Amino acid sequence: MEADKDDDVESVKTQTFPSNGLILCTACGKEISAMALSCPQCGKPTGNRSPKSQIAVILLCFFLGCLGVHRFYVGKIGTGVLMLLTLGGFGIWTLIDLIIAICGKFTDAEGRLIKE
Ligand SMILES: [Zn+2]
Repeated sequence: MEADKDDDVESVKTQTFPSNGLILCTACGKEISAMALSCPQCGKPTGNRSPKSQIAVILLCFFLGCLGVHRFYVGKIGTGVLMLLTLGGFGIWTLIDLIIAICGKFTDAEGRLIKE
């Protein structure tokens, strides 16, 4: 029969390991680009950071936050306009955004964390 299958080392070569620039999806295990925002197979976000500057968001929010400029900066045009029209939710929304930005929890339009 096939009793000597235990010594079969050929199956090892079919295994794939993440190499430079690649990560494994934590949900489905598919090898995906380290730059990918989400897994192309199952759609799970990879938790990648935004290329936007956290300091820039904080400064924009602090000085021009009532005009929603920090939201335009990260690509959140819709809420940026809304913020502009409401003058930053009368300052409250801007203050909340500022705190979120300082804590490194602010995200860009694609949902990536803006954190240095
Ligand atoms: Zn996946």
